[in-house]
Amino acid sequence: MTAYADFYRRSIDDRDGFWAEEAKAIDWQTPPQQVCDYSNPPFARWFVGGTTNLCHNAVDRHLATRADQAALIAVSTETNTERVYTFTELHAEVQRMAAALKELGVQKGDRVLIYMPMIAEAAFAMLACARIGAIHSVVFGGFASGSLASRIEDSEPKVIVSSDGGSRGGKVVEYKPLLDEAIKLSSYKPSAVLLADRKLCAMNIVAGRDHLWKALREKHLNTVVPCEWVEATHPSYTLYTSGTTGKPKGVQRDTGGYAVALAASMKHIYCGNAGETYFSTSDIGWVVGHSYIIYGPLIAGMATIMYEGLPIRPDGGIWWSLVEKYKVTVMFSAPTAVRVLKKQDPALLTKYDLSSLRALFLAGEPLDEPTAQWISDSLKKPIIDNYWQTETGWPILGIANGVEHKASKFGSPGVAMYGYDVQLLDENTGERLTGANQKGVVAIEGPLPPGCMQTVWRDDARFINTYWKSIPGKLVYSTFDWGVRDEDGYFFILGRTDDVINVAGHRLGTREIEEAISSHPNISEVAVVGVADQLKGQVAVAFAVVRDASGLVDEAARAKLEAEVMKVVDNTIGAVGRPARVRFVSVLPKTRSGKLLRRAIQAVCEGRDAGDLTTMEDPAALEQIRDSVQ
Ligand code: AMP
Repeated sequence: MTAYADFYRRSIDDRDGFWAEEAKAIDWQTPPQQVCDYSNPPFARWFVGGTTNLCHNAVDRHLATRADQAALIAVSTETNTERVYTFTELHAEVQRMAAALKELGVQKGDRVLIYMPMIAEAAFAMLACARIGAIHSVVFGGFASGSLASRIEDSEPKVIVSSDGGSRGGKVVEYKPLLDEAIKLSSYKPSAVLLADRKLCAMNIVAGRDHLWKALREKHLNTVVPCEWVEATHPSYTLYTSGTTGKPKGVQRDTGGYAVALAASMKHIYCGNAGETYFSTSDIGWVVGHSYIIYGPLIAGMATIMYEGLPIRPDGGIWWSLVEKYKVTVMFSAPTAVRVLKKQDPALLTKYDLSSLRALFLAGEPLDEPTAQWISDSLKKPIIDNYWQTETGWPILGIANGVEHKASKFGSPGVAMYGYDVQLLDENTGERLTGANQKGVVAIEGPLPPGCMQTVWRDDARFINTYWKSIPGKLVYSTFDWGVRDEDGYFFILGRTDDVINVAGHRLGTREIEEAISSHPNISEVAVVGVADQLKGQVAVAFAVVRDASGLVDEAARAKLEAEVMKVVDNTIGAVGRPARVRFVSVLPKTRSGKLLRRAIQAVCEGRDAGDLTTMEDPAALEQIRDSVQ
């Protein structure tokens, strides 16, 4: 066997021995007594009996050896600011934030919702929660009041940390009014709101509830807040993600398993060393931001760059200039960002000294071969695709160059990662497909490895019912992705099996968008599908049935209603959920039992064969869709 094949086999066949070894890479207050308790499947409890702290491992632990080294590099091309925090400075800021949260009543196990732009205070808040054993729930700053309200309702945060606003492409985005509206919409009310005032826009302060970070920070300049040692199984955070139903799921992550999984991935997958710089271009509102802007690099003792701004402003060379300036060794981005850069002046890729960079990792959405080839030819560095999900927290498929150097195959995110017993299941029988090049559902045999979701926040039944299926003698986790595996064990991902779409790496449920659109008074019914797009991978397209169509007399009237519908989505979900087009039809294609034929609509939009339509109630409905997209 090759070194990786051997390593992988051991991770499956000697699971506990393998992970006991990896667990030595982090600091424990009390060492674990049991590596994995899987006595109640599918719930896996990792490192039972151990106590540790994520913030200690990310920050405090490094003070002895790298106190004056850069830890957090906050760069904003929106406000033209750049600030480097050493581990000592980060430690101080995190303690101030932790003291502020404690003063506002936050205790171990309480939730803190973080609704922030990409500023250093967001990182302080996440680490401060981890420090005191509070459970953070970061909500992407691009979400609007409706999405934010449902997350407040579900996570019931004692405190919300936010800011006056963010900025995108030089345009200020006010956060505070969206937050106030969300709190109004939610039946649960937080007891306090802590606000970083960036002076980007005016803020309406609610007396008795809203507090300014600046004032509390000054009060706690020298307050010492020790790390709270928590059980390895103590939840560190929840992060909401979209699924088939309209209601997003709170993916709940543990502490010890997550720290071990991230430390292992930094060594075996990303090959990042202490003292170097990691640059992930994601946002803290997504899982990549949690694992590979904040926790992973810091646990590894690396400096991490947090970037607020566009990849093409002031020009398409901005990211490469940061690689040169901070001697970035490991970079992580998304295929859409690369497709955006592809349209820029190619000279920008040779303008900067990129000799420090060892590899560019891409994830979050399919990496098409031409894009992979282009960036590989331009950078002349290894381009490594990896496939994972909010649920797993770290790669399911990829290449572990830290174990054994393996070539990438463009179009494939690689082989099964150590720790994941990846299987392909037959769609109909649920049986394992063992041959090469057979299409099946990508599944993981339980238990999920350390670092993956523990459960759905406060909804164990939903965790079981949504993700787990029985195959003879085993429980398997479904990823809801189609895949095939070639003769060499490389997987190829062929799209989702459910109604989730992926727009520029952002995961969205078509049902969520449909629910938002249905709240428009003149829309009676709507179907949203994901349609292939050259730049964003997919875009949402909506087909809506209008209650009263008498006003839709011409193109201008249709355009006006389309803009109104888009505005409704902007106000509820945020611009990330806005469909690229809203088209009006008189009827939607459904089965005789009333089920929407989303796949047929999607096929028609993409110019493909709509498949078997024998169960369709009214064939004219699909004709209308065809006419409207032509
Ligand atoms: P999220 O939870 O937002 O990270 O979205 C996870 C989903 O994004 C997966 O289930 C896939 O559908 C898709 N995805 C993520 N990474 C990749 C990749 N490298 N290649 C293909 N699809 C991917």
